[in-house]
Order: sequence, then C-alpha cells, then structure tokens
Amino acid sequence: MEICEEVVIVGGGIAGLATAVALKRVGVRALVLERSDELRATGAALTLFPNAWRALHALGVAHKLNAIYSSLTKGTVTNLVTGATETIVYADTPDGDKLGVRAVHRKALLEALAEELPSGTIRFSSKLASVKTQTLEGSPNAVLHMEDDTTIKAKVLIGCDGVHSVMAQWLGLVSPVHAGRWSVRSLAIYPEGHGFNQEIQSFLSDGKRAGLVPLNDKEFYWFINYKSSHRGEGAGSDPKLIQKDVIENLAKDYPPIFLDVVRHADLATLTATPLLFRYPWDLIFGNLCKGNVTVAGDAMHPMTPDLGQGGCSALEDAVVLGRHIRNSLLRDGSIRYESVGQVLESYVKERRWRVAGLIAGSYISGWVRQGGSGLLVNFMKMVYYRFLYARVLNASNYDCGDLPAVFSTDSA
Ligand SMILES: Cc1cc2nc3c(=O)[nH]c(=O)nc-3n(C[C@H](O)[C@H](O)[C@H](O)COP(=O)(O)OP(=O)(O)OC[C@H]3O[C@@H](n4cnc5c(N)ncnc54)[C@H](O)[C@@H]3O)c2cc1C
Repeated sequence: MEICEEVVIVGGGIAGLATAVALKRVGVRALVLERSDELRATGAALTLFPNAWRALHALGVAHKLNAIYSSLTKGTVTNLVTGATETIVYADTPDGDKLGVRAVHRKALLEALAEELPSGTIRFSSKLASVKTQTLEGSPNAVLHMEDDTTIKAKVLIGCDGVHSVMAQWLGLVSPVHAGRWSVRSLAIYPEGHGFNQEIQSFLSDGKRAGLVPLNDKEFYWFINYKSSHRGEGAGSDPKLIQKDVIENLAKDYPPIFLDVVRHADLATLTATPLLFRYPWDLIFGNLCKGNVTVAGDAMHPMTPDLGQGGCSALEDAVVLGRHIRNSLLRDGSIRYESVGQVLESYVKERRWRVAGLIAGSYISGWVRQGGSGLLVNFMKMVYYRFLYARVLNASNYDCGDLPAVFSTDSA
C-alpha cells in the first residue's frame, strides 16, 4: 500500500501529539504514526513546570489539565546524610496558579492533546522501519517504509520517535549515552486518601535521589534515581522484584513516608529505566534538520530527568515548530514547500542552544546532587549553588512564545 501525505509526524508521544496540535492550530493537517496500538503512558506521571504550562496554553489544552490537577505549593529537598533541608516555593511563579508546577498523569496529558486532533490523525500500530528521500515533481519528499510494508510519502517529516529515534539516526545524530544512573518510578495509590499537602518531597543520599510528588489526594508519583552502570534491559523487569529491591536495598534507610508510598505502588505502572542523554555538543554541532526533515522532543534532545524538563521542552518544541511552519504558509493556508528547508532551519536555530543548555543543566544538577561527597564533588557543589543554581531553576520559567491561529481547521 502507498499513501501520500503533506506532513507526517513519527511518534505519538508528548512531542508528536503536541506538534500535531500546534500544526492544527495554524491550519496544517498532519498524520501521526505511532507504533503502539494505543496512547503509550510508560512512566506513569510527570511534573510540568511553568514553561510547559505556557506551551500548553498556546496549544489550547492547559485548561483541561488545570481543571483536574492542583498546583504544587512547594518542594523540600532533604539531604539524608547531613540532615539539611532546602525549601523551594513554587507558588511564587510569575502568573501564580495559571502557570503553577503540577504533576499530571502521562495518559491524561496525551489524551488532552489527542482529543484536539481530528479523528484519523493518529495511525496506531504503525512502526517506521526506515526512511529515504527522493525528489518528486521538483520537490523533496521523504519516503517512509513501515514495518507492515506500507510506504508513506511526505512533503514534511518530523521525527518525534523518542530516545531511540530512527529519525535522529537518519539525520546522523550520535546515539544517546548512558548517564550511569537508573530510575525506578510508579504511581502509589491510597484509596482512602494519603492525607499529605500538595508538596514535593525529595530525599538525597550518597548516589541516590528519591521523590514523592502528589498528583491528587489519593495518588502519589514516586521515583528513586540511583547510580548503576548496567545498560541493558532486565536489571529486574519484574515490578514486584523491583519494588522489593527499593524497599529492602535502595531505600532501606529512607524515611518511613517514602517506604510507605513505595509499598502502595501500583505495580502495573512500576518501571526501571536507564537514564540516557545526548551530549549538548551533538546538538550544537549536529544536523537537527536536513531538507524537509527534522526532529523534536526526546528524538532531538534526550536528557536526564533531574530538572523534569524533557517533556516540558518537548511541548516548547511543538509550539516553536508550529510557529515557524506557519511562516511558510501561503495565503490559502497551504505550505510553501520551496521554503520548508529554511523554515525547519529557523526552528532548529531557535531550539538548539535552549535544549543543549537544558541537557547540560540537567546533567550537572543530577551529578552535583547525586554525586555523593568528596573534595571534587564538594567544590562542584559550591560552584553549582553559587553560580548556576538560580539560572538552572529559572530555565523552567522559559517562555516559548505564542501560537497565532491564522487559519481555522474546524472543517478538517
Ligand atoms: C525517569 C524519568 C522521569 C521523567 N520525568 C519527567 C518530568 O517530571 N517532567 C518532564 O517534563 N519530563 C520528564 N521526563 C522526560 C519525558 O518523559 C520525556 O522527555 C518525554 O516523554 C519525551 O516525549 P517524546 O514524545 O519526545 O518521546 P516519547 O514519550 O518516548 O514518545 C515517542 C513515541 O514514539 C513512538 N515511536 C518510537 N519509535 C517509533 C517508530 N519507529 N515508529 C513509530 N512510532 C515510534 C513511541 O511508541 C512513543 O509513543 C522523565 C524521563 C524519565 C526517564
């Protein structure tokens, strides 16, 4: 079977769906190809910072999530070795509650985005196998070969296929590297209510960082990040055994509240993941677009989760890409294909340094916080807190700008 489409997005995660929504808002229809047979919600939940809420407002979906999730008032970080506690007050964000820090279920975020798209936009069970480009009628086309033997031709191709991106590989980007750490995370459910305030609690000890993030009055999202050089799958893929390992080994000396939350884990959502990132210089010097092809989200900038910015910055990508593609539209709302290459280059120019900075900030923040003790680490901590900390925190207040809706697609 052969299909011809104007704009194709590979991957129906946060980046892919948000990009499709951004394009819809500027009047461009896109086809989203997703390898799973439904919206994939691995990772259970995530924390969204003011930069993500700005992007979600631009995409017209923030109100749906704001109505379900309350903003978190503050966060505490307790160093279990020294006993010192640092407090971060989130309510101080510039636009108050509208842009407050909130933890949301991944599925709810994906569904809120997917609901904005006309039916048929997402083609499930569609796994991209390989890509090539060819010139058809004078303009460059991407030719996608799907695992089910379908061929799809696209005038614009956006790879949002996550950390092991086929599209990033096609662009020649260097594969992400292992950060030497893993993360275990899941939801924890208290049917009778957990009785805690809307506050994030984090705990640091040598080489480990754990956190409890309330989603609502009955559910927590919890995680523990720890050092491990193991790279492959199967460092315990049985959720019950992973939970046991956290309770009896990784977090055995952690405060009772943390252990209690881990005991309440919903095992269906419990995963252990190696933390991967792309070197910032690969983003600064690498090809983030080629002709009519580019990437967004983790496909472009996988980062460690220490600042909770991977998903937030994927939402920023979507808004910025939507705005740049809008600049290539002709008066009748169709895409000016001769200028697509230039348009994608201007998108990449706007994103390159921003996301390279986030990758570096996340990695340094994780290294300093989980690096343990010792002369070098203590020196780095001093430098980090003195010169970088405020800038790193401020990165989550970034404003990616608005997305003017120039053409209506209500009839799409
Ligand atoms: C432990 C951990 C905690 C995190 N916490 C946070 C947080 O608190 N806040 C935050 O903002 N971010 C957080 N992140 C980062 C966040 O999860 C990612 O940045 C985000 O999911 C990236 O979205 P994406 O759409 O780019 O990629 P993905 O979510 O990976 O989506 C990619 C999609 O592409 C599909 N796909 C892949 N290959 C193909 C193919 N060949 N053909 C078709 N489809 C394909 C996949 O099935 C998937 O649906 C965390 C990450 C980790 C590991």
